[in-house]
Amino acid sequence: IFIGLGSTVGDRLSYLQLAVDTIHYEVGSIWKLSSCYETPAMGFEGDPFLNACIEVRTSLSAELVLSKLLQIEERHGRKRFDDGQYHARTIDLDILFFDDEIIENELLSVPHPRLEQRLFVLHPMVDIAPDFVHPKLKKTTSKLAEDCMDDSLISKFEATLKNPLHTFDVSA
Ligand code: ADP
Ligand code: MG
Repeated sequence: IFIGLGSTVGDRLSYLQLAVDTIHYEVGSIWKLSSCYETPAMGFEGDPFLNACIEVRTSLSAELVLSKLLQIEERHGRKRFDDGQYHARTIDLDILFFDDEIIENELLSVPHPRLEQRLFVLHPMVDIAPDFVHPKLKKTTSKLAEDCMDDSLISKFEATLKNPLHTFDVSA
């Protein structure tokens, strides 16, 4: 599965790393990590987004992965509001793709809706899976990025996320 990670407040890189580490232990092994990308906030006044994507191998169902991701968001301080407005968030975790499955129910839309309109999803996806084909749109992530009309000022962030697997590699 591919998971999109985003943070807009506080020490954004640490929040993303915390999410990666927790996903590694509670969802499945981290296969690939993209670079991080910074985008000015859209839709609300706020700090710029920091976004990345990871590829995770898991034996859990999509529903279980979603509930784990929601728990991780909550545990690490994201506040939910019911006013329908955008708010700054410490961690936002989205299931972008679950293999080539198409899921539409009241809890879950996979592939994640409108990802093809967002460079902050497509840039990191191209890093780790340029040839992955969107099961509904039938285009690779590279092609989606090429065709994307998003004109936001996205830039690569110099600091990178680390794979928790390698953190414990004593031979390194
Ligand atoms: P967004 O990430 O679109 O800005 P939120 O993170 O606030 O919105 O929305 C979270 C809700 O979206 C979750 O409670 C979940 O039920 C629903 N949802 C639907 N599809 C997905 C998906 N593919 N990944 C994550 N959450 C999803
Ligand atoms: Mg979300």
